[in-house]
Amino acid sequence: MAASDAHPASVAGDLVIARPEGLYCPPGDFYIDPWRPVARAVITHAHSDHARVGHGHYLAHTDSEGTLRTRLGADINLQTLPYGEAIAHNGVRISLHPAGHVLGSAQVRLEHGGRVWVASGDYKTEPDGTCTPFEPVRCDTFITESTFGLPIYRWPTQAVLFAEINDWWRRNADEGRASVLLCYAFGKAQRILHGVDPGIGPIVVHGAVEPLNAVYRAAGVALPPTFRVSDPEVNPQMLKRALVLAPPSAQGTPWMRRFGNYSDAFASGWMQLRGTRRRRGVDRGFVMSDHADWPGLQKAIAGTGAERVFVTHGSVAILVRWLTENGLEAQGFKTEYGDEDVADRGDAKPVAGPDAAALDPPVADAAS
Ligand SMILES: [Zn+2]
Ligand SMILES: [Zn+2]
Repeated sequence: MAASDAHPASVAGDLVIARPEGLYCPPGDFYIDPWRPVARAVITHAHSDHARVGHGHYLAHTDSEGTLRTRLGADINLQTLPYGEAIAHNGVRISLHPAGHVLGSAQVRLEHGGRVWVASGDYKTEPDGTCTPFEPVRCDTFITESTFGLPIYRWPTQAVLFAEINDWWRRNADEGRASVLLCYAFGKAQRILHGVDPGIGPIVVHGAVEPLNAVYRAAGVALPPTFRVSDPEVNPQMLKRALVLAPPSAQGTPWMRRFGNYSDAFASGWMQLRGTRRRRGVDRGFVMSDHADWPGLQKAIAGTGAERVFVTHGSVAILVRWLTENGLEAQGFKTEYGDEDVADRGDAKPVAGPDAAALDPPVADAAS
């Protein structure tokens, strides 16, 4: 086995090692969220930096089927698995467990030769009502993300967050202007729809958002009615009370002109950083993330009971140091995962729709 060649710090018998194609399971001969085309891929969730086109075979959670086929093509060779059910591949027992990140997001549990590893993908510890809440899974070795792995990142509770968004929307509606909320089209938009008070006014969504709403509704997630700008009910008068959800890439495009003298806002974990809102050029910033905050990462890692932790994308060095100081064996894994709050990278096909072209172009890096 070439484990030690592929990653200098790996140990013979490791169930996951870093390879140029992605995170690889040597005994199982498959990858987890690979960034280059491979024969067999286990996909944690359908965000485009984790779920890419070109793999021979995909394994993902049942609730990811709609988003994966929408984004990667209806014809992908996809096998689905409910949470908690195991399959064996080359003697490796594989099961998927809720990650609480977006619809269908899963942690991947691998068991082989008496070892148990869990690869988290992206995860969030606070339940949000739009996907199955995160569940800690006991393991020897845990692979964690660290997108917001700095002590400054502490999210407001869902209740506080939605009180803030509702207050902003209600005040704008009372003053007769639209409330344009920029948010990532997959996951965050549906979370906002699920959490806001639809009694305040009508809700209009960008063409990049509505196909994903349809997938969520089909999976049984309750979302209030939404309009497209092309719908006959949408007129300048109703827009004055409307909440408008659009991807960040719609900012500054002609699509926005129809909303007249609107107030705009941005929903992202990066809004916790002083200056990000101003750099984004919006009136308001709401601190909202689909990732664990600093306390959430600590709680999740402790909940696994793992003695060994690998850290992927984000504040790798800082989280590794914190874990090491707390007596765990920790190291980084170099990956090519991005952050869907900053840009929808990767080569996923844009969602079909007349104004879907605005979905994929990268936006200015709000993290810097
Ligand atoms: Zn993600
Ligand atoms: Zn990620």
